[in-house]
Amino acid sequence: MKDYPRKSKKQVYLDYAAATPVSRQVEAAMRPYFTDFFGNPSSLHAQGQKAKQALESSRQTIAKLISARAEEIVFTAGGTESCNLAIFGASQALGEKRGHFIASSVEHPAVLQPLLELKKQGHSLTLLRVDAEGRVSLKELEKAIRPETFLVSVMYANNEIGTLQPISEIGKLLKKINQQRLVKKQGRIYFHTDACQAGGLHDLSAPLLGVDLMTVNGGKIYGPKQSGFLYIKTGTPISPLILGGGQEKGLRSGTENVAFAVGLAKALELAQKGRQKESLRLFALQNNLYRALQKKFPKLFLNGPRPALNARLVNNLNFTLPGVEGEAMLLYLDAHGIAVSTGSACSLNNHQPSQVLKAIGLSAKQAQDNIRISFGSNTTKAGLDYFVKTLGLLLKQLGKVVNEAK
Ligand SMILES: *Cc1c(COP(=O)(O)O)cnc(C)c1O
Repeated sequence: MKDYPRKSKKQVYLDYAAATPVSRQVEAAMRPYFTDFFGNPSSLHAQGQKAKQALESSRQTIAKLISARAEEIVFTAGGTESCNLAIFGASQALGEKRGHFIASSVEHPAVLQPLLELKKQGHSLTLLRVDAEGRVSLKELEKAIRPETFLVSVMYANNEIGTLQPISEIGKLLKKINQQRLVKKQGRIYFHTDACQAGGLHDLSAPLLGVDLMTVNGGKIYGPKQSGFLYIKTGTPISPLILGGGQEKGLRSGTENVAFAVGLAKALELAQKGRQKESLRLFALQNNLYRALQKKFPKLFLNGPRPALNARLVNNLNFTLPGVEGEAMLLYLDAHGIAVSTGSACSLNNHQPSQVLKAIGLSAKQAQDNIRISFGSNTTKAGLDYFVKTLGLLLKQLGKVVNEAK
């Protein structure tokens, strides 16, 4: 690994899939709840009740945005906690019984690790294969279902390669299967989706998606990190993971983070209101960038689906440049003020090539020569042009002129 000296004062942030800045409006909405309205929502005095009101009105705002009821929203400390609550919390309903769990093979570790833990405890787990673009197949899902299947967890949008999964189709399929199971007196299959990457740009209507459980976090939609919620459809069995004073209807004890609940609701409101317009703006940037990359680097190939509104996140491009290591690209770009991410140094910092890239059929080498660009509110065409130009400079420096068109 080579370290490059810092070359530029220019800053181009292209890692929105990892973290988004808290928007000014969100910051402003939260601020009074740190200092002026700091009461404990469980307190009966006016200060407490003021906080309680803010908490409940944030819950209502979120519920409305996802076509759910306020009592179906549990605030958590982010995406990881919500996924853990969905999986471990639901599995406790099995009691002594061992159940069968199904998930895609491209889930985020926040889903995958709890499922692997359940497997260790004697439950069974099927990880569905995905196609070359990272999509699960409804047929494979249907084939995987067994009488003891208890929970299906499929992410809405993939955080590495941007693939959108057919969530509402899965929801419809499970609804049909659950009707048949009712007749056969088999247990219901519950459906969880990790929507952390989709919250900013996609429809989160719970009835439309047909989900029983849905995870959304604030840190990916211009809200605070460590803010999030789990949607729990009425009737879905969930036991708490954190016990204590019984807050959040006993499902998540601990004094509520009112400021973060307010911030999360504001962030989701802004995102959902603006998502159509912003999607089109980002889609245009994505198409432009993809064309520019193809032209300049003919050997480059895209990971995940080609840009299309219903196939891939409009703010994600993940590609492999054969012969150029992702880490080398990342460090060189960073020295020029550009922040990107790579699947070669994965989230666990263990230098294992990304599971997701492996699941779509990349060799270890191809997975190593990989970077992910993800863009958002502050991304402009000029910034992306600078990225393409800088990447070209790196290839020249590496003598990889073979990669570059004349
Ligand atoms: C970021 C992310 C998570 C984890 O969320 P945190 O808020 O960081 O705990 C889970 N799933 C996906 C798809 C994510 O992108």
